Amino acid sequence: MTKRVPIPAAVREYVCQRDGYRCCSCGSTQNLTIDHIIPLAKGGTNDSSNLQTLCRSCNCRKNGRYHLIFHPYWL
Ligand SMILES: [Zn+2]
Repeated sequence: MTKRVPIPAAVREYVCQRDGYRCCSCGSTQNLTIDHIIPLAKGGTNDSSNLQTLCRSCNCRKNGRYHLIFHPYWL
């Protein structure tokens, strides 16, 4: 398991709201998680600018490709 620094509840709420309670990759509204765009291990932070809403399956798909920055589906 990867060691994780907990994201404050207020920050999670902000990110979910900003992303419209949808996965940034596929637009799903189910099984949403908060993902670090740049992993903490790579120098990322818990700042909302480094956080995005991803569904569980997109989050899993991203695993192992942490060197790529995940682009929101609307870009
Ligand atoms: Zn997704």
